[in-house]
Amino acid sequence: MNLLKSIISKLKSKKKTVGELLIIDHKDFPKILHYLGLYNMVEKGEVVCFICGEVLKPDTVGGIDFINKHIVLICNKPQCTIEHAKFKARLIALGYKIK
Ligand SMILES: [Zn+2]
Repeated sequence: MNLLKSIISKLKSKKKTVGELLIIDHKDFPKILHYLGLYNMVEKGEVVCFICGEVLKPDTVGGIDFINKHIVLICNKPQCTIEHAKFKARLIALGYKIK
């Protein structure tokens, strides 16, 4: 549970930059979604993947990120993980940092 808290605090840290990548065990996503207050929205199908736009379910969430102070979720399709990494690499190349 301490690990989960440290992950959450890292996710919520205002010092986080787009260059950081957090690896989170898939089974911890529901707990993190609950903590962030997003679980019910995801369960109702109200949240879509930031990359492909597909409606997410608790068991299809593959990643959580903060972009410009907004929480974004990414589905668990490998292509979306790759596209998300490319997206962040482009932001870094542009010198973009989250404040
Ligand atoms: Zn996706």
